[in-house]
Amino acid sequence: MHELSVMTQVVESVLGSLEGRDVRRVESVRLEVGELTMLGKEQLRFAWGVLSRNGPLRGSKLVIIRKPAVVECPGCGFRGAPKKAPAGWSHTVAPLIACPRCGGEVRIVGGRETVVRSLRAVAARDRRPGKRRGR
Ligand SMILES: [Zn+2]
Repeated sequence: MHELSVMTQVVESVLGSLEGRDVRRVESVRLEVGELTMLGKEQLRFAWGVLSRNGPLRGSKLVIIRKPAVVECPGCGFRGAPKKAPAGWSHTVAPLIACPRCGGEVRIVGGRETVVRSLRAVAARDRRPGKRRGR
């Protein structure tokens, strides 16, 4: 299952970002998933459930945000959403996406990423002397 290997990396990066911090548990994680990744929401949630069973991620909520595809056309300079995301998009068939303006070949510049956008965590100590603003 592709989702499981992707989520393994996500969980690792989340746990990595918690290192050295006094975090008791994580409440929620916002994950941006590009629409071209072909990752299923349900499968991602399932994988998250399996991988977050122990440790600070236990009981955390996964929020999945779909990111639309963005293409760039070297021919006419168009940048934006492609004409259409072809049905039956798969890893085995080379995707055919055309520029909505000139019909030319485009470069995919967005929609293939899986990014942890933010996470909400509960500190191990109730309150810290006020230097926990921002990043
Ligand atoms: Zn174009």
